[in-house]
Amino acid sequence: MSRFLSKRHDSLDAYVPGEQPSDMQYIKLNTNESPYPPPKNVIDVVTGEEIRKLRLYPNPDGTALIKKIALTYTVDAENVIIGNGSDELLAFAYLAFCDNEHGVVFPDITYGFYPVYAKLFDIPFEQFPLKEDFRIDIADYLNVGKNIIIANPNAPTGIALTLPEIEKILQSNTNNIVLVDEAYVDFGADSAIPLTQKYENLLVVHTYSKSRSMAGARMAFAIGPAPLIEDMNKMKYSFNPYNVNRLTQIMAEAALNDEAYYKEKHREIIAIREYTETRLRKLGFDMTNSKANFIFAKHPNISGFGLYTALKEKGILVRQWNKPRISDYLRITVGTKEQMDALIDAIGETVSRQ
Ligand code: PMP
Repeated sequence: MSRFLSKRHDSLDAYVPGEQPSDMQYIKLNTNESPYPPPKNVIDVVTGEEIRKLRLYPNPDGTALIKKIALTYTVDAENVIIGNGSDELLAFAYLAFCDNEHGVVFPDITYGFYPVYAKLFDIPFEQFPLKEDFRIDIADYLNVGKNIIIANPNAPTGIALTLPEIEKILQSNTNNIVLVDEAYVDFGADSAIPLTQKYENLLVVHTYSKSRSMAGARMAFAIGPAPLIEDMNKMKYSFNPYNVNRLTQIMAEAALNDEAYYKEKHREIIAIREYTETRLRKLGFDMTNSKANFIFAKHPNISGFGLYTALKEKGILVRQWNKPRISDYLRITVGTKEQMDALIDAIGETVSRQ
């Protein structure tokens, strides 16, 4: 740290992304990326001609892409904003809707960026403990009088709320924003996007990083009532108007021309998740009811860190946190069937040595 860093940031704990070691070739099951490439038409759209056009700024409004997203999700263009990953859209939401009088609440076990932004932007925040079984207690979120962020399905638990549960939260917090982060919704939960037509306080965020196989492109969008999107745009145009680059915009638009490819891949990932869960249960694991592209599991006889380390030595990366309540759990991204077989073999060897 330099002596020039603002004192404001003394207590800031920056987000720690999943590791990306380069000492060997790992089976990478630690950041919930898709094991599949984007569809062919996404690849084909990146032509020499488009690369030559990189001398020009991208369209700051993302007009064509936003039109396509609106068409895909049956909303109007004025209901959509695009972002450089959902992390950026979350930042716009904090900037737009949170301040000293309008704090924010989210679960104690959830996506690690939520408290980081609250500290960065100096927003008061509260974390409601998940129940013993890691489910969100809806009662905590009724009439809270603060903005609310809920990942649905939640991370790293993978547990999803139902739409009626989300509606209850929306109806009892009409003077506050409810942001539903649907990073993993395509793997088995119900999207709240249709509810954005009914509730003026709902903002839904989607990312291309997981279910659309484009984590490296940094692309996400939020859908909500037009006035909320207008507020989000005010933040975007005060921060980084050209936030989504040219190539990402054309690739993201092309991606939406191949919904059938993605739906098929989502079905495959769900099937591989269920297959892996069954095999892990046979090895003695306990796990949550995940509706995401990861499994959150623990073994009664091996510590989370012990298993994480044993797997890393065998060339398999998973995610583990040294945090209360979850330190014995591993979050394992669902990869290909071959990758999961390699994982199960490696776990089987480790478990049998205990
Ligand atoms: N929300 C949740 C719940 C996540 O797990 C992640 C991925 N780490 C993100 C948002 C951020 O995704 P991205 O910025 O890649 O869109």
